[in-house]
Amino acid sequence: MANNRKDKLLKEYIHDPYFTKEKYHDPSVCQQCGVVFHDGIFQWMEKAPTNAQKIICPACRRINDKYEGGIVHLKGEFLQNHKDEIMNLIKNTADEEMAYRPLERIIEIKEENGEIIITTTYEHIARRIGEAVHRAYKGSLNMQYPEGQKYIRVFWQRD
Ligand SMILES: [Zn+2]
Repeated sequence: MANNRKDKLLKEYIHDPYFTKEKYHDPSVCQQCGVVFHDGIFQWMEKAPTNAQKIICPACRRINDKYEGGIVHLKGEFLQNHKDEIMNLIKNTADEEMAYRPLERIIEIKEENGEIIITTTYEHIARRIGEAVHRAYKGSLNMQYPEGQKYIRVFWQRD
């Protein structure tokens, strides 16, 4: 992995209570999802190094605790009529983001009062989902960071 990308990825998680890299042996492998902590960063590997210690990664711990770093609210009549294709776009976007940033995951997708609500482990993936839906289907997109850069609320609506 290129060093500048690695530095950038490290910086993004440095203040995360779930990403305390000094706690992890290098290499380590997550027993729940298989992501590998190696060279100081979480990454997907074909095969974990044989000396890897077994851990639960920060993303899986957030999923287990339902400790979200982002939330996406989708609503409006257009959503009701295009739910399947919008859900497909969301899943594809999440897969792409997770391939690049292994700790970015969807925690839960639920429907409430005609809204689709998606919680995510970190803020990047929530923002990416909002931007992807907005790019594909227009409508209105609003993003708020109520606690600085560490948490995001994304609202998308098309009537
Ligand atoms: Zn994991």
